[in-house]
Formats: sequence, structure tokens, C-alpha cells
Amino acid sequence: MSNIRFKALQDVLSRTIPEVKPPSPKISDYFGSNVFDNKKMKEYLSSEAYQGIVNSIEKGEPIPRDLAEQIASAMKAWALGKGATHYTHWFQPLTGTTAEKHDAFFEPTADGGAIERFSGDALAQQEPDASSFPSGGIRNTFEARGYTAWDPSSPAFLMARTLCIPTVFVSYTGEALDYKVPLLKALNVLDKAAVDVCHYFDKGIEKVNASLGIEQEYFLVDLALFNARPDLYLTGRTLFGHMSAKNQQLEDHYFGSIPERVYAYMQDMEAEALQLGIPLKTRHNEVAPSQFECAPIYEEINLAIDHNQLLMDLMDRVAKRHNFKVLLHEKPYAGLNGSGKHNNWSLITNTGKNLLSPGKTPKNNLMFLTFFVNTIKAVHEHADLLRASIASVNNDHRLGANEAPPAIISIFLGSQLNDVLDEIETSRISKKIKEENLLWQGIPKIPQILPDNTDRNRTSPFAFTGNKFELRAVGSSANSASPMTILNLIVADQLKKFKYDVDKLMKKGEKKDLALLMVIKKYIKESKNIRFEGNGYSEEWEKEAAVRGLPNIKTTPKALDALLSDKSENLFAESGVFTVREAHARHEILLDAFYKKLQIEARVIGELVMNVIIPAAITYQSKLIENVKGLKDIGLDKSTYASQLDIINRISEHVNFIKTNTEQMVNERKKANVIEDLRQRAIDYDENVKSFFQPIRYHVDKLEQLVDDSLWPLPKFRELLFIK
Ligand code: ADP
Ligand code: MG
Repeated sequence: MSNIRFKALQDVLSRTIPEVKPPSPKISDYFGSNVFDNKKMKEYLSSEAYQGIVNSIEKGEPIPRDLAEQIASAMKAWALGKGATHYTHWFQPLTGTTAEKHDAFFEPTADGGAIERFSGDALAQQEPDASSFPSGGIRNTFEARGYTAWDPSSPAFLMARTLCIPTVFVSYTGEALDYKVPLLKALNVLDKAAVDVCHYFDKGIEKVNASLGIEQEYFLVDLALFNARPDLYLTGRTLFGHMSAKNQQLEDHYFGSIPERVYAYMQDMEAEALQLGIPLKTRHNEVAPSQFECAPIYEEINLAIDHNQLLMDLMDRVAKRHNFKVLLHEKPYAGLNGSGKHNNWSLITNTGKNLLSPGKTPKNNLMFLTFFVNTIKAVHEHADLLRASIASVNNDHRLGANEAPPAIISIFLGSQLNDVLDEIETSRISKKIKEENLLWQGIPKIPQILPDNTDRNRTSPFAFTGNKFELRAVGSSANSASPMTILNLIVADQLKKFKYDVDKLMKKGEKKDLALLMVIKKYIKESKNIRFEGNGYSEEWEKEAAVRGLPNIKTTPKALDALLSDKSENLFAESGVFTVREAHARHEILLDAFYKKLQIEARVIGELVMNVIIPAAITYQSKLIENVKGLKDIGLDKSTYASQLDIINRISEHVNFIKTNTEQMVNERKKANVIEDLRQRAIDYDENVKSFFQPIRYHVDKLEQLVDDSLWPLPKFRELLFIK
């Protein structure tokens, strides 16, 4: 049969479930077996070399050259022992995905033979031909070089037969061309600021790091059906498709039993992830049909992000073995829940203390309140920047679409902690309380286990969940480094201000604890507006947020303005996390990706309607016309073919609408393409080109309902969504 949809459906029916054999029944037997971790380093290195590298990593210092040489040869020995032939610097360019260029270990020798070689230099630094990665104008042609440099804080790993070395990616002039450099810089700033504040409570704390647990939502679709939908494989989402009669309305998928085929895929994917040291712990069905989630145990943030980037890549690779395609797009199917990537974030000291975990004693509570309130204040001050950090063309479909957190950044604390903050705000902490005991009475009791720890307000973009904050507005395909750089940076900046404010009071003679509490109280008041416990999806909230003066920026091109505001510029400059040029470059890259993705979608819509959908509709219409002619020929009156005439007319109406609107869309695209100013071009694409997508789709979906099923060329939602 020529209809590609039917061919695909036949393929789906012939699927068998591949046998999945994890390396061992016990995960602990193989967890991390493909990672050159500390344990392996210890095994392959002399104890001095091992200690040397551990020290350098802990202090964040560069690894001396002779050490790098020893580590390179240890890595090589380990990798060759596991069958590796190649190595690569693995990095995270601003395309949002990961990049790698493999080089063989092998080198010919003068006597005509060959050996495997891997030098310290090759480990430490590479110069990939980087001219095709987005640089936002940072790399002019005369300085087109880009360098990747080893990030020893993230261990090397083996992917298939290639040794992968996590690296940063910078330009010849030292500017960041990736997601990792600013993240590492922000973490440094955070470490310093947080340790300083910790010293009010505990002089023994030497280091503070952020921890991150990333929940990853995704859809699975059969590979044959995916390949029969050019919109899916060219844009990652369906641009057409009438909603399936049954979809998510019965809410029977969430946490339901995992379909057999999917279960096999998950086990296979998890086994590979676990060997790569990605500590996957949780798996479950999500709300929409064929939507799933996996989550690892949280890790040190830089590693957690590397692992998530690696996981996204791995998920897709393993899926092919199971004839699946993983859809990481934020909104593959209109009308169904989209996918996000919840970022569970906290601060942890070198002494193992979670700074966002309420303490047992009032004194510990004061420390908790300090970090808790400073985080709230930071988000209040820079909500626009946090919003910008999660902005993308894909995420625009999700945010504020009544199914995901809105474009308004607010914070959910749960009633108990809200009450605690209210209590402090209205309490009469005053300079008169000189007596220690009285002061402690001023701090409300915070139970260690918060009952509304589980009372999750799913509608909040930023929620406190017991001992961590959860940023839920991140898109499923995003690199978490973007929002996490901003979050860590703004918290660091806030902690510096806090220290300044507290020290000032102390210099005036205030006792330390009282000074801390006074500043906390002040911050609670100042940041009150961002706290919201109600339904974030509701219209009332939009109205209230407007009254409160909270930004509600629904589209990416405008949300990105925050990257260039004076306030952000100061923040970046003071912390050194982004130079002005880097911030501008990122702004440009993000705008560029935004409009180009819409451009691609508009083109795909144009091609599909003209070459696939309208022809199918006309084929059916011609059949009806034949039928009407036949009925007429045998002498029947009009009443016998009135329905056919009605369908014939309706098809013409839809086809006309689709064709004229597609032509208008193409015109608008042409106009937008010549707009010089990139921001304006992106806005124009958003407002004048994208605005055609929905009306055109509406009429295409109407045709889908009218046209003979056997003539419809694109797999339908009901076929895509229910896994056989
Ligand atoms: P839910 O879906 O109910 O939010 P999950 O168990 O799916 O919960 O995910 C919670 C995530 O939060 C996990 O990745 C978990 O490891 C992580 N997490 C727990 N504690 C912390 C913490 N202190 N810092 C960062 N992440 C944490
Ligand atoms: Mg969660």
C-alpha cells in the first residue's frame, strides 16, 4: 500500500519486545562500571598522583602538567582494557545538545607498526574545528578558534568504544562558548558567598556546593510512526492532528502500570545509564498517554547537569534498539500535557549539612531561615532573569498554557513555612531584646518534618519541597545549566548583600543573632510579593500578579530582554560570570534559535499542507464527486446525495482557508526575514508568522475528521499516543 501511514501501522503491529539483559541482576554490581571514577583512579594511579588530583579538584586548581600526563596514561590503560579505540572531548555548546569529535588512540610508528597513544596534552586541551558552533558574534573569522579544556570535576566515561572527557568550550579570546563555563563560575561565586554567611553559624564550614536532582519527562512514540510524520522528525512536535477521542481525560495513565514494551526500553536504558554512573532511581508513567518520567538521585550540580545531558543523548540511542523515538520536546502534542524538567536544588556544605533543611534547634533554624529567605529574596529581585533563563520557543507552548507553571515566577512555600515567615515579619524583634533567651523565642518553631512537604502545589514554578527548592518551569529539552547558572548566581549575589547588611548592623554594635534576624525580617517583608500559595494556573492569579507588579512575560523574545538589563549587567559584571560581550552573545544566539525554529515550523506547515494534506482531501473529494455523478446517472434525485454534496463543499471551504492562509503566512515570513534587528525579527515571527499556525491547523484537523480514514496520510493522534 502506498499510504505511508498504513505501512507504519503494519510495522507497529509486527513489533516484538527485545530481550533485555542487564549486566548483572544486582545494580550495585555494575553501577559506574563505565566511569573512570575515584575508585578506578586510585587503582590505576600512584597514591601521590591520586592525592594530587583529588586535591586539585577539591580546591578547583589546575592540574599540573606531569600529573595530567600520568592521568592520561591511566585513563588510556583503563579505556583500552574495556575495548575503547577512540577518545573525545565532550562538551556542551550553545546549541543546547552535546558535542563530540572522536580521535583514535592509534598512531602509526616509524617502523610501519602502530601504537595507542594518549598524552596529557590531548587530555587537557583540544582545538576542535569550532567555527560552526553558535558564538553570537564572539568568534570572528580571524579568531575562529575554539578550545575545549578538561573539567576534572566531572569524571571521564566510556560511551560505546569511545573515552569521553567532559570539557569546557571557550573561544581563542577566553570567552565562554558553552553552558559549563558560566555554571562553574557561578558555583565559585556561590561557594565563596555561602561560606562567608555560614561562618556566622559555623566556622568549620569550608565549602558550599549546590546539589541538583533533575526529573526528566519525555514521550515515547513508535519509530515507524515517527518517521511517517515529517512534522515530528523535522520539528520535534506535531504541527497537526485532531485530538484522540480518548486522551488523558480519564487520568488513567499517571502512575499506571508501565506498558511491556516501554518497560523493556526503560530497563535497557537504565542499565546503560547506571553503568555510566547516572544514579537513576525513579521511573513512572506521566499524565499524558505515552508520557513517562525518570529521575536520578541528586548529585553535585555540575555532575548532575552533565549526567542529564548525557542521559538525554543515551535515552535516544537506546530507544532506537526498541523501535522507539524519544520526544524531549516541551510540547509534542497540542492539547495534552507538555514535558518539563524539574530542577530540585539545594545547598550542601563540605560538612554534609543541607542548608535548606530546617534544623532541630532554634539556632539551626536561624541558619536554615537565612538561606531560605535569601533564596526567596534572590528570586524576588531577579525573577525576570530566571524567567529569561528558561525561555525557548518550545517552552513558550508550555508556560502559561494551563498545564504547566505560568510565565509568572512565584514561590510556593507551603502553609507552615508561610506562617513562620508571617510570624517573623510581624514579630516585634527589636533592639531592646538584648537577652539571648528572648531572642530565641522570637524565632518560631519549625518542625523538622514539614507535613506539607508532600502537599505539592504543582502549579507553582518554584516550590519549596521540604529540604530543597524545585524549579519546575524548566523545559524538558533544556540544558539545566542555563537556569542553574542564574539561580546560583542570584543567590550568591543575595548572600553577599546579606552579609553586608548584617555586618553593618554588627558594626553598629548589634549582637550577631539579633542582626541576622533583623535582616531576615526585612527581607521577608521586601520579598513578600513573590510568595503565592494558590492556583498558579488560574486567571485570578494573572490578575493578582499584575496588581503585585510581578512580571508576566509570555514570549521568549521579550523575556530575553532581561539578559541585557542594567540590573543584570551589574550582576554579571560584579560576579564576573558573564562579560557584557558574553551576555550579548547569548541573547543573540537565543533569539536566533527562536526565530529559526519558527521559520522551520512555518516551512514544514507549508510543505505538508500543499503536498500531503490538500492532495489527500482532494482525492477524497474526487471520489465523492464520482459517487454523486453516478447516483445522478442512475436517475436518483438530489436527496440521495445531499450529504456527499455537503462534504464536498466543506472540503472545499477548508482547503480554501488552508491555502490562502498558508500563502499569507509565507508572505509574512518573507517580510519578517528582511527585518534587520534580530529582536524585532523574532518578535515579528512570533506575532505575525506563528499566529497562522493555529488557524491553519484547525482547518487541517477538520479535514482529518472529514476525509476517508484509508486516504489520510499522517498517523493520527490515537495511533501515536497509545503504545502497542
Ligand atoms: P517528585 O516527583 O515527587 O518531585 P522525585 O522523587 O521524582 O519527586 O524527584 C525528586 C528529586 O529531588 C530526586 O532527583 C531527588 O534525588 C532530588 N532531591 C532530594 N533531595 C535533594 C536535595 N537536598 N537537593 C537536591 N535534590 C534533591
Ligand atoms: Mg518533583
